[in-house]
Amino acid sequence: MDQNCIFCKIITGKIPSKKIYEDEDFLVILDVNPASKGHALILPKEHYANLYELPEDLAAKTMLLAKKMAEHMTKKLSCDGFNLIQNNGEVAGQTVFHFHLHLIPRYQDAENDDLLRWDTLEFTGEELTAMVKLLV
Ligand code: AMP
Ligand code: ZN
Repeated sequence: MDQNCIFCKIITGKIPSKKIYEDEDFLVILDVNPASKGHALILPKEHYANLYELPEDLAAKTMLLAKKMAEHMTKKLSCDGFNLIQNNGEVAGQTVFHFHLHLIPRYQDAENDDLLRWDTLEFTGEELTAMVKLLV
């Protein structure tokens, strides 16, 4: 529990939220500024700032819950696709520093259909080889 964390306050009931699922480890709530109809967030009940801090067992459980929620929400919302998004660090777009996974239903006829498109970069063969050397 982090006294200054908005998601901790939601988890402890100090701030209201629209809860759609709860178990002993997680809360799933609707995002207050949804990118699509049904946009929700998986929040671990324990405070971890980001993926780097999240213990492995909770990371694994998060993905299992994401699959379960995606299947459930797709059925209930009749959405046409689904994004899982997870931001770490300000530069990556993180604004709430309590680990969370975005569950974003996608719809064929949505007005904001370019929601998650990004400009691409080009790298030479040598640069890619150097990248592989660095990362393997
Ligand atoms: P991120 O930018 O990945 O850190 O995502 C933070 C998300 O939390 C944003 O999509 C916000 O709309 C959402 N959010 C912030 N405050 C609340 C709140 N009180 N209840 C529900 N969602 C929230
Ligand atoms: Zn927190």
